[in-house]
Amino acid sequence: MNRRHFVKRSGMGIASLSLPFRFTNCKSQLSEKRHIVTLSFDDGIKESSVKTAEIYEKYGLSACINVIATAHIKNFEMPNEYHKWPVGDFGLWNELQQRGHEIMPHGYRHANLRKMPFEKAKDLIMRCLDVFSGKLKGFEPQRSVFNFPYNASSPELEEWLPSQVRAFRTSGKAINPLPNEYTIKLTCSSFGPGNIDQDLKSKVDELLSAPSGWLIYNTHGLDDEGWGPLRSDFLDNLLKELTDLESVAVLPAGKALQLI
Ligand SMILES: [Zn+2]
Repeated sequence: MNRRHFVKRSGMGIASLSLPFRFTNCKSQLSEKRHIVTLSFDDGIKESSVKTAEIYEKYGLSACINVIATAHIKNFEMPNEYHKWPVGDFGLWNELQQRGHEIMPHGYRHANLRKMPFEKAKDLIMRCLDVFSGKLKGFEPQRSVFNFPYNASSPELEEWLPSQVRAFRTSGKAINPLPNEYTIKLTCSSFGPGNIDQDLKSKVDELLSAPSGWLIYNTHGLDDEGWGPLRSDFLDNLLKELTDLESVAVLPAGKALQLI
């Protein structure tokens, strides 16, 4: 298939709704995959998260949704206007996880951890992991991916955090090497505050023209929700095209690390 035309609708039929089958299938064939695409959805906006999960399910895929530990609590202080939409709570996160999606931590209260003293940043990360351990079924910090709010890490935090989690996501190049057992630092790019469709398309094109790689692209809400939204029909078409490409695996970050 011509890479330039990956977003054109293919003649692919109705995708399987069987999540476990697709995952099993994916695992057995992962060694044949040269490109991994992870759209890493932050902030846990309720309506967008539900819609994102439904679109992924159309293709038997697992979405990667990163949520703030306390954003659903009544007195949550919004960090900026891009958090004004209602967010999901752990009832929803457990339900989406049960349906095969990946729910990962995105901070205790969406603070910029780079801009605070190391001890305070560490404390917020530990509190975040404690909330997840208490409220998200089966959550194990050592298997989790911590997604830095604002993708803002510091050298000190990057050195300490692997003692607590499997990996972390921060700012950097969008295209990572394919994961291996030593992969700890995941880097991503993002775009906003306006619509991200074309920027995302250019990053996917870049990935597909490379011999191999793992694109980690930090997304937020759908349509008109959140910072840097993605059109839901664009996401739908993109997943349709990507699942039709033999070299590509569309995976959440934690799953990509587990399957290596
Ligand atoms: Zn965020």
